[in-house]
Amino acid sequence: MVWLAEIMLQQTTCAAVIPYFENFTRKWPTVKALAKADTDEVMHAWAGLGYYARARNMVKCAKDVAEQRQGQFPRAEEDLIELPGIGPYTAAAIAAIAFNGPSAPVDGNVIRVLTRLYAISDVMPANKAVVGEFAKAMLPKEHSGDFAEALMDLGATVCKPKNPKCKDCPWEADCMACIQDEATTYPKKAPKVEKPTRHGWVFWIENTEGRVLLERRPEKGLLGGMIGFPGTLWQDQVLSAEQAARQAPELGDWKRSEAQISHTFTHFHLRLNVLVFHLDKDWDGLWSRPSDFGTHALPSVMQKIVEAMKP
Ligand code: SF4
Repeated sequence: MVWLAEIMLQQTTCAAVIPYFENFTRKWPTVKALAKADTDEVMHAWAGLGYYARARNMVKCAKDVAEQRQGQFPRAEEDLIELPGIGPYTAAAIAAIAFNGPSAPVDGNVIRVLTRLYAISDVMPANKAVVGEFAKAMLPKEHSGDFAEALMDLGATVCKPKNPKCKDCPWEADCMACIQDEATTYPKKAPKVEKPTRHGWVFWIENTEGRVLLERRPEKGLLGGMIGFPGTLWQDQVLSAEQAARQAPELGDWKRSEAQISHTFTHFHLRLNVLVFHLDKDWDGLWSRPSDFGTHALPSVMQKIVEAMKP
């Protein structure tokens, strides 16, 4: 359960994760049950949570643990990190919280608390290894899992980003940033870089039965393995409707829809326009009535297209 929670919490808020966590643990209460699950069903249950590579790696990890390790996760950080989808932070968090091992997971909360406590002026999160060294030096001989959780909770509830409640903090007397009355200036951040905007066109192809063509995206890359609509690449260059239509899978009378979709990924903003085509011949592919789109694992950006295309 700690593993599942930590995977879901990667780049995602606790509030967003809770309903997904409850649903997953209801459907697949053990790692062995998840290992046997149909990948499409897992992807469907994950839809909306984002960062879909996590879900695919999670299934791979469950299979590895169930089939190669009798359903038991390894306890040491260096063994956990060998499993699919488990990076340094997640390995440390599982080792500390699930197995009480001598590990010091460093998340955003821990970075905030310790950079303030020790007035660490290195730019974060690029230098979070520095915070990791401080955290390791503080680890108690016993109950390191409790220590890790306490540090995270202190950051989440007391050492808040904008209004730290230093009067309620057990470290008030020793905290260097607090003593210097500079708590909110930590952690030090690199100057913000504007996210670029990419542009693309969606090919909304409807057949004579009112079904719309869907496609599975390539396994590698953004939204890898998820179901979506065909379209052009998402790129910096803005294509005209005519240029986009020349890239469509069928030459013909493509009509520009008024629908416009905006979506923001971690590293870029996306603007999509839609070209509509009515196909009057048989064509192999994944066709679906709009009323059945809910049965596919459509990621958020694709659901926005569906919304925008509603009559
Ligand atoms: Fe954070 Fe204030 Fe506690 Fe320092 S004293 S760790 S700034 S809450």
